[in-house]
Amino acid sequence: MRNISDTTKRQSDLKKQELKDQALKEARAVAPKYCEKCGTQYKDENFNLVKKEQNQAVFHLKCPNCNNTYMLNVVAPAPHMMASQRSSINIDVNSPEELSKFAGKGSVTRDEVIDIYQKLKSGDIEEFLRS
Ligand SMILES: [Zn+2]
Repeated sequence: MRNISDTTKRQSDLKKQELKDQALKEARAVAPKYCEKCGTQYKDENFNLVKKEQNQAVFHLKCPNCNNTYMLNVVAPAPHMMASQRSSINIDVNSPEELSKFAGKGSVTRDEVIDIYQKLKSGDIEEFLRS
């Protein structure tokens, strides 16, 4: 029994890896090849898949030289038709893991912003960070 479920798990891991490889291959075809800031050539390992959907993939792209970080949006509106959009992210979310954590969240409400503002203003930043 154990062997069967192990095999199934391996197959699903393999499938996931294939999807990732495929997404990366597609992304590399349309993604910028060089860092906009320092001109370093990107390598496969600089692309981290954050999200993969039917016709869209989102990558976290980080320059190995200057650490300039981008979000790369790859869309395939039709078969054999690919486009990519690179946008800088000026936030201190530096790992793909961290990014996935935030990417799935809904947008911040106005009340939350006011709440944070007031907490910061009151100087109770330690308590804020703990909550
Ligand atoms: Zn760079």
